[in-house]
Parts: sequence; structure tokens; C-alpha cells
Amino acid sequence: MRKQIAAANWKMNLSQKEAENLLDQLLASDFNLSENQSAIFAVPAIYIPLAIQKFAGKQHMFVAAQNCHQKTNGAYTGEIAASMYETVGVKHIVLGHSERREYFNESDALLAEKTEAVLAIGSTPIFCCGEPLEIREAGTQNSFVEAQLKNALFQLSAEQIVRVVIAYEPIWAIGTGKTATSAQAQEIHAYIRSVFAAQYGQSIAEQISILYGGSVKAANANEIFSQPDVDGGLVGGASLIATEFAAIINALK
Ligand code: PEP
Repeated sequence: MRKQIAAANWKMNLSQKEAENLLDQLLASDFNLSENQSAIFAVPAIYIPLAIQKFAGKQHMFVAAQNCHQKTNGAYTGEIAASMYETVGVKHIVLGHSERREYFNESDALLAEKTEAVLAIGSTPIFCCGEPLEIREAGTQNSFVEAQLKNALFQLSAEQIVRVVIAYEPIWAIGTGKTATSAQAQEIHAYIRSVFAAQYGQSIAEQISILYGGSVKAANANEIFSQPDVDGGLVGGASLIATEFAAIINALK
């Protein structure tokens, strides 16, 4: 059974006090997460120790990083290695978010290195992919996303690829209030799974969790998550509101 995941991406938001309040509100909610479900919180790096302390002893709830450097250590002022996150208890790292691809020029080749760095220390990459509006309008989203996956991930072995979580996030739906319809999400998620099946075989492809991201909120999570190839969501804006994100976690199948 594939892991079903609700992942929060706080991005560069909230003061420490606001972060603490949000975590406390979330912890006051009653989650009944089962063995194959996880709630993951990609908080700003500086709040990671706080979040780890708050979630101590909580089953199926994890703190994640929003990015890491591809090297293990060295003269890279201001950067944080995947292994450093691992030593403080962070086992999930979001990679290749469209904002990082756009504002920090992250290429598929760089993301291949970052993904390998995260896997090498036994942690889980949450690898983001997704097309801009003009590609969707041209109807070439499948080949666009396929190229992102091939260029960054196909050097991995089958044992490695099953440890990667994919987040499909159409850029035109991120932070815009525009959500892909559940049919659009299912269609491209199934395509992504078929891309992995062609490279690694069907049984490997069936084990890969594929999350949808792009204006997921409490009101649409149930319908999107109910699609057979959608294994949860990566959530920006709505993850900053405790009641919204709690309902999104509870919408996991
Ligand atoms: C995101 O940043 O990954 C995201 C999906 O944002 P939003 O939910 O706000 O569209």
C-alpha cells in the first residue's frame, strides 16, 4: 500500500510566535493517522528545532526541510547539508519546488545531485515537478513533466526510486487559488506513474507516492485525494491555517 501524505509547505512565512501558535493549534487537533499515512511539515529551517520538540512522541507526524545543499559539507556559506538536517531528526526534504527552480535557478541536473545526497543519508526527497501555464495551454504538460523526471531521477536505481516521493504541482495552480480539477490531477498522476512503470516496471511504479500541489484546501482535498493515483497533497497557503490543514490531513485516504 502506498504512503498517503499531507505535506505542509510553510515557505518563508510566520514569526516564531506565530509558528509556535500554529503548531500548538495543530497539536490540539485530533488526528487518527494510520500506519500508511503521514503528516509532514516543511517549516522554515530556523523553526525546525521548535517543531521537532513540539511533535516529539507524535506518531506519523514529521518535520521536513524545504531545501538542502547537494554537498555533504564545506565552504558553502549560508547553506545546510541534508546530513545536518538528518542529525537533528529531519528525514524528509522538499526538493525542486517551482519557486526554487525559478528564483534560485535550480536545474534538473542540480536536483539530480540533491536527490542523491538526500537518499545517500537514508532520508526521503519530496521531489517537485510541474508545468507553467503556457505549457498547460499548449497541451504539452505530459512531456514537460516527463522530461523533468527523466533528467533528475532516472539515474536512480529501483531501490532508490521507491524511496522518492513525487509532488506534482502545476505552477499555474500554486498560490493562485486555481486548482487543477480532480480529473486533470488524476490524468497527469496516472501519466507520471506510467513514466516510472516504463522505466522501472509496474510494481515499482505502484509503490511511488505522488502528491498533488496547487491551491489544495479543506474544501477540495477530499475530492482530489479520492483519485486513485493521487496519494495526498503538498500544501502551501492552506497549511498556514490550522483548521484548514487539519481538515486536509483528515481527508487522506
Ligand atoms: C506549494 O507552494 O507547494 C503550494 C502548492 O502552494 P499553494 O497550496 O498555496 O498553492
